[in-house]
Amino acid sequence: MVKNNREFRIKFRGVRGSHPVCSKKHLEFGGNTACVEVMANNRLIILDGGTGIINLGSELVRNYISSGTDHQTRKPVEAVILSSHPHLDHIQGLPFFKPAYIKSSNIHIFGLRAKSRDFGQILSETIFSSIFPLELKEMSANISISNINETQVILLYPDRPEPELIRLSNEKEPDVPEGTVVISCMKSHAHPKDGVLVYKISCNGRSLVYSTDKEGYIGGDSKLTNFARNAALLIHDAQFTQEEYTSPVSPKQGYGHSTPEMAIEAAKLANAGQLVLFHHDPGYDDDALKQIEEKAKKALKSAIMAYEGLEIDLMKLKQ
Ligand SMILES: [Zn+2]
Ligand SMILES: [Zn+2]
Repeated sequence: MVKNNREFRIKFRGVRGSHPVCSKKHLEFGGNTACVEVMANNRLIILDGGTGIINLGSELVRNYISSGTDHQTRKPVEAVILSSHPHLDHIQGLPFFKPAYIKSSNIHIFGLRAKSRDFGQILSETIFSSIFPLELKEMSANISISNINETQVILLYPDRPEPELIRLSNEKEPDVPEGTVVISCMKSHAHPKDGVLVYKISCNGRSLVYSTDKEGYIGGDSKLTNFARNAALLIHDAQFTQEEYTSPVSPKQGYGHSTPEMAIEAAKLANAGQLVLFHHDPGYDDDALKQIEEKAKKALKSAIMAYEGLEIDLMKLKQ
């Protein structure tokens, strides 16, 4: 993606929920699991590490190699990775994220502490120690892993490479220099078993809210409505159609995912500028997703389906 100072753009790298899928009928929307690349004022932020992060990592390494002639002149990869929750479809790409194997890379990962275990411990035990040949600590990059909760915000200052994690005082927006990227989060319990973090990334007077793996409530979720109010862009879980959600044979209610109708309601209540439906069920092929999109657009003109490669420039969206 093109870099300039006042930038705020995203690219979808993986849009599936549950598990990756690969077939001719899934090519248009893509088969990789959750990952969204965000470029905000020259800072790379990655939402979730599903299999979509693998291609992103390869691209970052190619850019790294072409940025200089040796390790001393090359521009190190700097990335902040925000984890919504440690379910497999959101972390399974992390062991294959190539920048993590380059010594000069600086990778800061944030996630949810659960069941008295730090996020680093969860990540390490879930994927690295048990189903991958390397330990997390054996990766050669500088990797920091921190817990984050809704009383904290991450600040990415324009003149400082390290992110700063600060505690919010009275939930007031922090006073920061222009150009700073501010990342906050909201805990939702509407996803089994340990809940999920909804992230908000704000910069240049606009905000993006990433709300995946979150089931809607009847009448809307007032906590989300407040958190996402006036967001330029809302990315929202819409895994199951209404029919499947309430199917008499195999209802999906309680699985921790929303219907497009719930996502649309969330966008309307929050007055979001644009809605992207996300976390597609792997059982829905391109034709099924097109039909869902057509129906969603009738209910909300700004609703679109996420697909792999979709790029959105938030600086061009209304605030
Ligand atoms: Zn998921
Ligand atoms: Zn999940």
